[in-house]
Amino acid sequence: MKKIIVAIDGHSSCGKSTMAKDLASKIGYTYIDTGAMYRAVTLYALRHDLFYPCGNIKLDELEAAMPDIHITFRFNEETRRPDTYLNGEYVENLIRGMEVSSHVSPIATVGFVREAMVAQQQEMGRAKGIVMDGRDIGTVVFPEAELKVFVTASAEVRAQRRYDELMAKGQPASFDEILENVKERDRIDSSREISPLRQADDAILLDNSNLTIPQQNEWLMEQYLRVVNE
Ligand code: C5P
Repeated sequence: MKKIIVAIDGHSSCGKSTMAKDLASKIGYTYIDTGAMYRAVTLYALRHDLFYPCGNIKLDELEAAMPDIHITFRFNEETRRPDTYLNGEYVENLIRGMEVSSHVSPIATVGFVREAMVAQQQEMGRAKGIVMDGRDIGTVVFPEAELKVFVTASAEVRAQRRYDELMAKGQPASFDEILENVKERDRIDSSREISPLRQADDAILLDNSNLTIPQQNEWLMEQYLRVVNE
């Protein structure tokens, strides 16, 4: 069967990664969570004091640090999912917390950060056989991807999902704070100058507000089978 690139873009916390991981594991593809890469850069910036108290980024220092930021993924046999490592350290849980979530979108607006991440992502997909999720996969990273999906759901539904996820991991969270964060990230991601979040012209739109996880997984599998059997 031909190998393809599956590009899944969409709004924050809309279940992109859940469906991307499920498809990848069923068809034996590599799953790449590009949001985790921007989150890992953000964790590095927080730890190295690269934010001014007002929230602005110390751009010169961050640019100088870029060669020291190495992000890798290692497949976790237990969870059957890739875990994120920053300079060899397991950071999968740390990058999902509110501290990183509330600083990541500004980091993702920075041109040199995006250039470095996009170059790595393109390298990872060179041999195809990948499912990649993010904001600019179908528009910038792989405009030639054979299957492009753009996922959305209402902000309230997305905040509830993120809240449930954090609770399940035992990470305390406030629903209102998460809702604000989801809306704020949508705003920054959609209005930034470089690679703003937008649906590629040839992407299929999926609003999953009223779909269960098995339903959306099944929908994605159908799209994949349609493309590989074309
Ligand atoms: O997907 P996730 O919500 O974990 O991504 C975190 C943040 O990283 C997003 O809010 C967005 O600002 C940024 N991002 C991006 N481009 C991508 C993936 C994520 O700008 N391809």
